[in-house]
Amino acid sequence: MATLYIVGTPIGNLEDITLRALRVLKEADLIFAEDTRVTKKLLAHFEIGTQVARTHTRDEKRAAAEIISALESGKNVALVSDAGTPGISDPGAMLVQKVREYFQSDKVQPFSRFKVEPLKIECVPGPSALTAALSISGVPAHDFVFLGFLPHKKGRETLFKEITASKRTVVFYESPHRILKTLESLSKHAPEKQLAICRELTKVHEEVKSGSATELLEFFKNNPEKVRGEFVVIVSA
Ligand code: SAM
Repeated sequence: MATLYIVGTPIGNLEDITLRALRVLKEADLIFAEDTRVTKKLLAHFEIGTQVARTHTRDEKRAAAEIISALESGKNVALVSDAGTPGISDPGAMLVQKVREYFQSDKVQPFSRFKVEPLKIECVPGPSALTAALSISGVPAHDFVFLGFLPHKKGRETLFKEITASKRTVVFYESPHRILKTLESLSKHAPEKQLAICRELTKVHEEVKSGSATELLEFFKNNPEKVRGEFVVIVSA
């Protein structure tokens, strides 16, 4: 039975990879990666020589077809993203769904359905910026909503209204280009709202800043050198 492994990889610190992930990446016949250069660096660090192919994340149909074809030829395949857990706000998030649908569908393979070996999809859990941020933020995480990346334009302000009115903790990913704008919007809708801004987790400049929306807006405005890197924003209920 061919297996598709969904493998979590580090979000910064390369030591954050599991023993199982290393074994699976080593033993797989083929690794599908979001960006082969990023994955090859990771593999080189751990002296893993498995072949790496690019996942065509902009064309999920094609990407799914390539993975399906590898699985059908009996290859064990590992899927990784650039960082963290594949499918969590990554391009190609729908890939697993498409692969699953294909192997479950009797319409796709009307003649060879019974010859197709069943597929196994296994998770190889690892880090995610979402859980890393919640774990370090000090914000209660028994009940939260995750929004991934917020839309750039349409519906953005309405969403901020909803986020600041939410009865649940809200978590989302943000880029350094938008973090100030985001803080402006949050402090416009709810200046006293308590936030945790988690930056560069597991990396040299890892930092968590907590405070009200207005305080954090001031902080990042006054410290432009900190408006860099990768961010997770946590808005307390
Ligand atoms: N799949 C990844 C995961 O499991 O976390 C997320 C991929 S998403 C394309 C990338 C975004 O995740 C970044 O823009 C940032 O918001 C967040 N992120 C990733 N690594 C991070 C880190 N080390 N520190 C803070 N945020 C991070």
